[in-house]
Amino acid sequence: MQGTVVGADSGIYTLVLDDGRRVEASLRGRLKMPSPKGDRIVIGDRVEVVEGQSGTVTIEALLTRRSAVVRRSAKDRGAKVVAANVDRLFAVVAVEPSPRAQLVDRLLVVAEANAIPSVLVLNKIDLPGAAEVTSFLTARYRALGYPVLAVSARAQLGLEGLRELLCDGTSALIGPSGVGKSTLLNAVEPGLQLRTGRVSRKHSSGRHTTVASRLIMLLCGGVVADTPGFSDVGLWDMEPAELDCCFPELRELKGSCRFRGCAHIEEPDCAVRAAVEEGRIDQDRYKSYVILRGEAEAAC
Ligand code: GDP
Ligand code: ZN
Repeated sequence: MQGTVVGADSGIYTLVLDDGRRVEASLRGRLKMPSPKGDRIVIGDRVEVVEGQSGTVTIEALLTRRSAVVRRSAKDRGAKVVAANVDRLFAVVAVEPSPRAQLVDRLLVVAEANAIPSVLVLNKIDLPGAAEVTSFLTARYRALGYPVLAVSARAQLGLEGLRELLCDGTSALIGPSGVGKSTLLNAVEPGLQLRTGRVSRKHSSGRHTTVASRLIMLLCGGVVADTPGFSDVGLWDMEPAELDCCFPELRELKGSCRFRGCAHIEEPDCAVRAAVEEGRIDQDRYKSYVILRGEAEAAC
């Protein structure tokens, strides 16, 4: 029998088996061993199970993944898979709190680094100043090939496009807390009743709540990976050398630089810097690249 991991909480896995039953399962001993590649079993994973006579369910094997969201962190020393078989990442920002410089690029880089298609979502377009932010972000990111959705969970604007994508395959929403990720999911499926307006962990005084990862099954057939770590994208580290591959406009030009492994910062005959000077690459995008590259180097 095979199934999908829909919940993972300190060694107990909740599975939806292919016959529709929802069960709790534990791991066969050898699967518990820490793996250098970080491929522990996570939400979204497809697994092979064996059922014991007493009704126990044991995960025997992990089936091949078609994608994985991997969080690399210098602090945790290594890579950690946080969700598997995700088809699409929604990079969510809002008119308010207004997107800080580099935030959008940082989110899209996470998707690129995991080779998962992404969609930029600008929420709260009911608020003042929305028109300006919307036209700015739409122009910049559509030109780079990213779909952009301008929506309001509260005023129910632009939700059709979001609903269509959420109802198809497995998605995950990434973005800082407070941008309205939970409210958007509630707007798409009111019965979900996800908690919104949560106090961010930084400000909550002493209250310690651990949130487990889970897959949310939408009535329309779509699946949403809900992982607490998705709000702290600032903590995701990158390999410096792979960063240019995470910017589509840099990726296209890197082969034309004089040096292989060009960092596009101070090397001579750099096709990327030439493009920035000629205005073919957006200055702010290049600035994001330089900042993220600096961070990536500091982390390793
Ligand atoms: P999350 O941390 O990203 O899940 O954000 P929440 O869904 O908890 O929303 C954070 C706050 O933004 C809440 O107070 C929501 O009511 C508010 N919010 C969410 N969507 C909208 C919107 O479209 N417009 C406005 N004005 N506020 C919104
Ligand atoms: Zn270069």
